[in-house]
Amino acid sequence: MKLTFHRRKLRLKHPFNIASVGRTDETTKQVLLVQIEHKGRVGWGESAPASYYNQSLESGQEVLLHAAGMLGDDPFALDAILDPLRKAFPHESAALAAIDGALHDLIGKLLGVPVWKWFGLDPKRTPMTSFTIGIDDLDVIARKVHEAKTFPILKVKVGTDNDDAILDVIRREAPDKVLRVDANGGFSPQGVLERCRDLARYRVELIEQPTPRGQHETLPAVRAETIAPLIADESCIGIEDVLSCVGMFDGINIKLSKCGGIRPALQMIHTARSAGLKVMLGCMVETSVGIAAAAQLAPLADYIDLDGHLLLADDPFEGIGGEAGLLTLTDRPGLGIIER
Ligand code: MG
Repeated sequence: MKLTFHRRKLRLKHPFNIASVGRTDETTKQVLLVQIEHKGRVGWGESAPASYYNQSLESGQEVLLHAAGMLGDDPFALDAILDPLRKAFPHESAALAAIDGALHDLIGKLLGVPVWKWFGLDPKRTPMTSFTIGIDDLDVIARKVHEAKTFPILKVKVGTDNDDAILDVIRREAPDKVLRVDANGGFSPQGVLERCRDLARYRVELIEQPTPRGQHETLPAVRAETIAPLIADESCIGIEDVLSCVGMFDGINIKLSKCGGIRPALQMIHTARSAGLKVMLGCMVETSVGIAAAAQLAPLADYIDLDGHLLLADDPFEGIGGEAGLLTLTDRPGLGIIER
């Protein structure tokens, strides 16, 4: 197998801001696109490194260069390929997810089946995806809500000093939509109960990552009020975190770039189910390649937030849909994506 990769600079439709990173007003994003070639077929993967998980394009490239020399000649040997890489680069989940995704795409193409079908999943069980509204000025937020008018579910970034004003605007513009909020750890353990009680006024479907990772001690008191399910994101990175979320959260947000790809994500889903946790699938700002990999598992999730490609002004791929919240799992083999 031959692995090649290149950097791709993506343009965003709007600047993207979240509470944990602060306001950067970033309008571009760089990712690594990976191709693994075998017997005339090419599998695509994507690495969207997160600086807050100490990942960079450079550190990801190191993993890919190493992987290029050890892939061997059997794309079906997923464990034999991925386990040593995970051991050698335990913190490079985004680059590992790119290799994992490219191998799944390649295997699907070699077999002539979509990954979801290979897994025996039912595409009709794919939940609707939310569409994310980032932190911004109130008039810009109102405009974003208007632009998202075809999406039935909105996810709003909170955890700022301005949450009530932001949510007032959202509820004024979208009184009846399903509304999810993501605090990205922006609430303090002391203040979280009060902040979540405030959120109840806005009829939220779920609350993602209210307090920072490791600061969960007051979350059981929030759960006891059954305001909305609490979903762990930054507190649940890989499979080793799943069981520590029991009792603190109602569910976990699994992202391929956090856990290392489709294969570890499947293990996390089964572990979460066995522990009574709900499952959400999330993403980074990334192209349809990364989104399509996560979407293959969407029929196994309670909630999906796979809108990263919809935030781009220049997605170099298509094939996974997402307009009006509806992702499409087609019969195209592998991840089902097409280069534009
Ligand atoms: Mg989140």
